[in-house]
Amino acid sequence: MTEKGFTIDFGSSEPAATPTAAPAANAAATTSHSKLMIFGSGPAGLTAAIYAARAQLAPTLLAGYEPGGQLMLTSEVENFPGFPEGINGPDLMAKMIAQAERFGTVIVNQDVERVDLSTRPFRAWSAGREFTADAVVIATGASAIWLGLESETRLRGRGVSSCATCDGFFFKGEEVAVVGGGDTALEEALFLTRFATKVHLLVRRDAFRGSKIMVARAQAHEKIQIHFNREVVEVIGEKKTEALKLKDTVSGATEQLAVGGLFVAIGHKPNTELLGGALPVDAAGYLQVKEHSSASAIDGVFIAGDVHDHRYRQAVTAAGDGCRAALDAERWLAEHAV
Ligand code: NAP
Repeated sequence: MTEKGFTIDFGSSEPAATPTAAPAANAAATTSHSKLMIFGSGPAGLTAAIYAARAQLAPTLLAGYEPGGQLMLTSEVENFPGFPEGINGPDLMAKMIAQAERFGTVIVNQDVERVDLSTRPFRAWSAGREFTADAVVIATGASAIWLGLESETRLRGRGVSSCATCDGFFFKGEEVAVVGGGDTALEEALFLTRFATKVHLLVRRDAFRGSKIMVARAQAHEKIQIHFNREVVEVIGEKKTEALKLKDTVSGATEQLAVGGLFVAIGHKPNTELLGGALPVDAAGYLQVKEHSSASAIDGVFIAGDVHDHRYRQAVTAAGDGCRAALDAERWLAEHAV
């Protein structure tokens, strides 16, 4: 795993003449219209932009939220096809941005504050500006929930990860820990046994939240050691993760556990706040799409990536989803002659 410490300049591909308005309290200072507007700049949003731009739709992409998505928090990506030597998450995103811009995507590096999907054209507001579009792709992704420790943030990408599929490979021959007691944590722990010599599963209560079958698998695995009633209070290490400080949630006693990696698997949160409840979500808060398409409950609004997919959650599946959404939007725009 390489060091984090990356930054990316999304810049803006808007024409130089476009004024950047100061935030306005009520009215938008400027309005820009496009055929298609895309919310989110992870692999789903950027792939939708590449396809839509090549179809001459000149989409506007509101980068918002975590520009570049979750790959900005990943060091080496080794499972994205086309990069046999692997590629840094931020470098991969920079290439996607360049590709989207090459065909005419207008990237606006601002958070979307509010949207109105109740009438067409659809509307979005950002930093005092109004954006309107005939169709919309929502690709705002999901964010991993973190423990909230200062040491966890500092060592993210240096042993602390939220994705075993992405980073597990880097822990060959080491002991690692997974925090969480749900299906994600159980799945991550089982996956990590392929690489790690031992996987410590840290559960804050005396019971799992995950399914019985996954619990049984973890319990039966010789490489997995389950620690109930354990809370991580500190990730120890200067430049990389070396150990964890754990607290017994019953006795309050603390202990140190030497591990080279910590996988935080306490859930993900789909980024749907900006929609203000305009679209239906499932029990876990993820947006719902109509079967075998990217269509949402609103005609002309399409959905792509982790904001609806909590099963696969991979860069390549999100990119595939972005492609589907762009094709669906393009077809919808053609059928509706807008
Ligand atoms: P989850 O079911 O909400 O479980 C979260 C786990 O993290 C719980 O054990 C929770 O403990 C623990 N936790 C929460 N905050 C914590 C903190 N600050 N410190 C320590 N532990 C903390 O989340 P998930 O595992 O990501 O699963 C989300 C949904 O996706 C579930 O419906 C799950 O079944 C599904 N899923 C399915 C599959 C599959 O079918 N293969 C795989 C992954 C996920 P408490 O129990 O004490 O709250």
